This record gives sequence, C-alpha cells and structure tokens, in this order.
Amino acid sequence: SNRQTTYNFNAGPSALPTVVLERAQEQLVNFEGNGMSIMEMSHRGKVYEAVHNAAIERLRKLYNIPADYDVLFLQGGASLQFSMIPMNFLAEGEKAGYIMTGSWSEKACKEATAEGATYEVASSKADNYNYIPTTFDVQEGTRYVHMTTNNTIFGTQFKSFPTFDVPLIADMSSDIMSKPIDVTNFDMIYAGAQKNLGPSGVTVVIIKKDFLATAKAENPTVLKYETHAKNNSLYHTPPTFGIYMLGEILKWIEEQGGLTAIDQQNKDKAALIYDVIDTSEGFYVGHATKESRSLMNITFRLQDEALEKQFLTEAAEAGFVGLNGHRSVGGCRASTYNAVPVAACQALADFMKAFMKKHN
Ligand code: PLP
Repeated sequence: SNRQTTYNFNAGPSALPTVVLERAQEQLVNFEGNGMSIMEMSHRGKVYEAVHNAAIERLRKLYNIPADYDVLFLQGGASLQFSMIPMNFLAEGEKAGYIMTGSWSEKACKEATAEGATYEVASSKADNYNYIPTTFDVQEGTRYVHMTTNNTIFGTQFKSFPTFDVPLIADMSSDIMSKPIDVTNFDMIYAGAQKNLGPSGVTVVIIKKDFLATAKAENPTVLKYETHAKNNSLYHTPPTFGIYMLGEILKWIEEQGGLTAIDQQNKDKAALIYDVIDTSEGFYVGHATKESRSLMNITFRLQDEALEKQFLTEAAEAGFVGLNGHRSVGGCRASTYNAVPVAACQALADFMKAFMKKHN
C-alpha cells in the first residue's frame, strides 16, 4: 500500500494531513537547525517553550478563546478527564448532571458516579442513541452538566449547544476544531488530540478561570487543574512531540482558511456520503436520524446483512481503511475528520454507488 491509494476513515487515531507529516519528517532529525529533534530537547529550553506557547496561541486564536480561560495540555487522554472532572468539581453532597448520548457519555458518567452523585439530564439510550435529545431536565443544586458534543460510535452530533444556569462541561474529543464555536457557552471543554488535533498523547483542556478556582483542594498534585494552569502546562514533562504536532495541525487549519472553511469542507465531505445513503432506496440505512447526523462519523448498515460483510471486504480490497462499525452499533462507519480529503470521500461515495449497482 502507499499513501495515495489508502483512504483512511479510521475513527481514532485517524488521518493526519499529509503535508503536516511531511513537514514534521523534514524537521524530525534536526529541528530548525538546532542539531537535534524537538523530542530530544529540554522542555525547559527556549526552543521547546516557543513551540509550546505558539500552539497555545494558535488554539486561542482559532477558537477566539477569551483571556479569562486557561488552555492546558494534559496527559491521560479524554478518559482521565472523565475522572478528573468529578475529582475536582464534585464534592460530597453535590450532584452532577450527565447528558447521555452514547458510550462515551456512559463512561464519563460512570467515573463521576464513583466520585459522587450523578443523574441523567437527558438520554437517547432507549433508541440506541440514534438522536440528540432536545429537552433537558436540570435539577436544582446541580454542580455541573456534562455533555458529549459528537458521538464517535453512534454518529450523532449536537448542531447547537444547550445553555443552562450551571457550568457546562463538554467532551469534544471527536469534533474539536471542526467548526467555529462559542467557547463562552462552556465552563470547560476537553478533547483527546488523536482525531482532529494530532497524534494521541495530548489532551486539550480549555477551562474558565473562575470555574477552575472552585475546584476541591485535596487532590494529588498532577490531578489538579490548578497545578497545570499555574505552570503553563509545564509542571512536569509534557508530551513535547505531540504538542509540536498539534501546533502544526493548527497551522494547517489556518492555511485551510480557518474554522469556517474547515466547517464547509466537512459539510461537503459528509454530504457526498449521506447523499448516497439517502438516494439508495434503503440499500444503505443510516443509523442516526437526519437532524442528528454527525459530520465526523457517518454510521450506516446495509439492509442485507449478508452483503455487509462483502461490502467491508471489497472496500478493504479497494484501499478503504477503518470502515467497520463499532461493535455496539455494528455495520459500517466512515470517520471524516478534518484531515480526510474531499477526494477520499468522493472515492467512498463512488465505491458505495458501484457496489449498490452490482448487488441491487
Ligand atoms: N470521548 C470521545 C467522544 C471519544 O471519541 C473518545 C475516543 O475515541 C474518548 C472520549 C476517549 O478518549 P481517550 O482515548 O483519549 O481516552
């Protein structure tokens, strides 16, 4: 296989822009003429610090993040945030509300339930999470509400965000930086980097300073947001190469024309594939309801289950990678994150049409 004939629809880690990988390759051994790789440099040195700060600045600029929010680079993935959030913000006698839109919401809620009291603000579980709820029941005395903005496994996505009179925390792991958003709608946003932002190993946290200040004091040092905020995410050794790559991905987003342009590309890409599903007269069946469809993860089945296996086999032979659906939904899933080129989506749409023609 080579890169030109491989269409990467992996759910995560997922495709990265080829040009970013090529630039990184150029710099890998001798970073900007310093005689060593960025990975080999001290995280306390001037060269790395400039890379680190530039990545934070790019994130701030692209998302228009106000000065009263901190941007942090942590480790442990989005999964550690599932625990860190309640450890920091859910004290005895308090309760947290969770909007349940899929497996990742369930995992986040489970970890919070280990720390304190939780309840469901809304849930689409009864319909196998095929839609985004539009009514929410926030109880009095709620410490925070947690939501998952894009449901990687089920292929649903919030098109607009609810607002509550309590802090709102969002797991944006699978749609961060895919479109412009109003950061001030949230007290905290977090995301593992490995879908839209770079290689795995970095977790981005955007957190309102006022909210951070209300955290509990009694946690281990590295599990306190305050530790990382006070030290510009340099309290301990950060994942330096991942942060460098994240900065390069953000530079690439700027080069694409910023988040408005990326959003349009993502809409165009997803439309190519959803259109095939919608005009297939039931040959392909989408999992998500139309209003709730994700622009990042397109989940579908073949009406004829016996053909589904053949579809996946033939697709793999044709160079399509990562189209197998997650075991909890089954079927097929095409993840069309920022870095997946329009041409790859066009190739998949063409393949789906040709397969249908052959077997219908
Ligand atoms: N949240 C969402 C929405 C995800 O899609 C994922 C990973 O796929 C996670 C959380 C878990 O992220 P991590 O593997 O960084 O812990």
